[in-house]
Amino acid sequence: MLYIGPDDVPGSDDHEGYVAGRTADGARTGIWTDPRHRAVLAYHAACECGWHDDVEHPPDAAGHAAALRAFVLHHFAPVTGRPGADPARHFLPPWSAAVPAPAPALT
Ligand SMILES: [Zn+2]
Repeated sequence: MLYIGPDDVPGSDDHEGYVAGRTADGARTGIWTDPRHRAVLAYHAACECGWHDDVEHPPDAAGHAAALRAFVLHHFAPVTGRPGADPARHFLPPWSAAVPAPAPALT
């Protein structure tokens, strides 16, 4: 998620957030992987600068949304000094938040 708020935030282009997933072997998915398409045990907020949140969320829709909010609250706001940044209004959502998750495969 990229900051698109009403005022210029110097350096904000260096902090594009995303939702990462933690796999069973402890690996983390990267910025170009939609963790909703992977077998992950948890979601957490991450940033292209290399930051990863310590707080994990369940790997479901609510957990995905919570991780996006956590990026703003736990990383973007402290790093940029913008505690009032609103995750819903001041950020372009990542494509993974705008594209619905695939339906579970029928077996
Ligand atoms: Zn960052």
